[in-house]
Amino acid sequence: MNLNDAIRKVPDFPKPGILFYDVTSIFINSEAFKYVLSEMEELYKDTRIDGIIAIESRGFLLGAPFALKRSLPLVLARKKGKLPGDIVEQSYSLEYGEATLEIHKSDLTPGKNWLIVDDLIATGGTLEAVAKMIESQKASVAGIFSIIGLPFLNYMDKIKHYNPKTLINYQGE
Ligand code: AMP
Repeated sequence: MNLNDAIRKVPDFPKPGILFYDVTSIFINSEAFKYVLSEMEELYKDTRIDGIIAIESRGFLLGAPFALKRSLPLVLARKKGKLPGDIVEQSYSLEYGEATLEIHKSDLTPGKNWLIVDDLIATGGTLEAVAKMIESQKASVAGIFSIIGLPFLNYMDKIKHYNPKTLINYQGE
């Protein structure tokens, strides 16, 4: 499977100078989608994971099938204002802009190991925010998975200790 060929690249989205890696092109390609999930399963087959935390919205589409395959609970990290119960929240900076994510507090069971799942790691700010929420509830980060990494944005400076894994990395833009 040539994963690079399966990823649509959109220059100057959502603003000039950003090369947007659009993983919706993987979701319409069942061979590519199956490949990503089988690689995830292989990467984590020997890792103790008690639950998956998937980040809105593309992370949901990877976290859900993986959680089902491993028979694990799936917790959603959602954009501000979407969750009805008591929440933990964390604000962070993006490659472009600012954002806040929220998780239902009662879902973050203390002492459990959570794998965080998203589609792409740019600066690492989003994943670091979720990791901080997990740790604030005395739970642990089992790892971080993303299809794509942009190491030139130095995400390792922020999240190296959480052992992030990616299937494909892009250098520069
Ligand atoms: P960051 O917090 O900087 O690591 O940004 C990661 C989040 O922003 C992910 O949820 C991505 O979906 C999105 N994102 C950031 N940069 C890009 C990009 N160049 N192409 C596609 N998605 C991106």
